[in-house]
Amino acid sequence: MPADGIDFTAQLESLLEQVRAKGVRDSRVLEAIRQTPRHLFVPESHRMYAYIDHALPIGEGQTISQPSLVAQMTQLLELTGSEHVLEIGTGSGYQTAILRRLCARLTTIERFPRLTLQAYRNLKPLNLPPITFVIGDGTCGFPPYAPYDRILVTAGAPPKIPQPLLDQLNPDGGTLLLPLGTRQYQLLTRVTKRGTRLRAKTFGECMFVPLVGKYGWKADEVEG
Ligand code: SAH
Repeated sequence: MPADGIDFTAQLESLLEQVRAKGVRDSRVLEAIRQTPRHLFVPESHRMYAYIDHALPIGEGQTISQPSLVAQMTQLLELTGSEHVLEIGTGSGYQTAILRRLCARLTTIERFPRLTLQAYRNLKPLNLPPITFVIGDGTCGFPPYAPYDRILVTAGAPPKIPQPLLDQLNPDGGTLLLPLGTRQYQLLTRVTKRGTRLRAKTFGECMFVPLVGKYGWKADEVEG
């Protein structure tokens, strides 16, 4: 995979080793990571760090998530290929690319127009099936296309789950995966909906940039 004169193949394989070591064994998820060149999703100034297992800055004070966490979250979604997915927090578009390889239909929402535009440009060379990009407040979900089989939030939400996201989940086993907690750290939480019943399970600590919106943190609380 030569780009800018650099061959990232060996670095990608070593990243995949680290992802496996963190418990990601789903071969479809690992293959989606292998097929998605992360260096295309980070600013040129940080390209040499693209295959290190770290979050990196992407502008607007936001980050591309840590790849092992992207893989863990994707695995927790248990996608079979037939799902309708809503992603909240497009960011660089890296997680978007991975999701798009594993589901039937994908809508992704971002609050910063500049990041949406950049994500669109990052994703274009990958020639993936169509993705719907929405600019707006993802804490309100995206009602026109609801219900969703999966909703993935890639920013840290306050302890109270945004009600619109629960409302827009498919009642036949739809799942919402989101980091819930304080602004500093969160618990990765998966909520499954059956009928009117909701079941939550947590999967350890994580650190995400804040989810800012009507049902998230207030902009002046986090951006001061
Ligand atoms: N999955 C992305 C993660 C980006 S960081 C990646 O790996 O590149 C989280 C993103 O969520 C940021 O781009 C931030 O702007 C966005 N975000 C935060 N609150 C949001 C909201 N209410 N609606 C939509 N996007 C939001």
